[in-house]
Amino acid sequence: MSNATPLPLYAISLGSNRRHVRFGDPRQVLMAALAALESDDIEAVDASPIIASAPLGPSRRRYANAVALVASPLSPPEMLERLQAIEAAFGRRTGQRWSARTLDLDILLWSGGAWSDAALNIPHPALTTRDFVLGPLRAIAPDWRHPLNSHTVRQMAARLVRAKPVDRAASPH
Ligand code: AMP
Repeated sequence: MSNATPLPLYAISLGSNRRHVRFGDPRQVLMAALAALESDDIEAVDASPIIASAPLGPSRRRYANAVALVASPLSPPEMLERLQAIEAAFGRRTGQRWSARTLDLDILLWSGGAWSDAALNIPHPALTTRDFVLGPLRAIAPDWRHPLNSHTVRQMAARLVRAKPVDRAASPH
């Protein structure tokens, strides 16, 4: 690849709701994961602040969440494989959807656009509905457009905030 060709960019979400025996609390797990992400073929471009968010599903532990922008020549399946290797190295237990997770890494967006195969969907299908992902993503890539709905991250985050009171009004008291 010539130096003039910019590398593809990925937005990667990081989440943790368990202490790691070596790294410490979920916030420290995410900082260690950000460091683990950087390698010969993954260059860190930016990282959001780490936020604390409410638990998803029946798990009662709070999450730490963040989003990183990385530049990498890896293909989406190669990037997924790399993320899964990092998750495994941090001791994520698989097969328990809502269990406490040491580390969860997802591909949110890729500058190549959309990708869809049996194991991988980009943009991440839950991107538009998760404020704990859109909030940190907006801090570092507010103008990135979703390739399928063509809204910017800023617009998607604003729609989500606006949608909430309506949802509450529609639900039984
Ligand atoms: P989860 O446990 O919810 O993180 O889901 C993990 C599974 O989702 C993986 O086995 C992936 O094959 C699949 N997957 C589909 N799209 C994505 C994506 N954009 N990023 C990460 N995992 C994905």
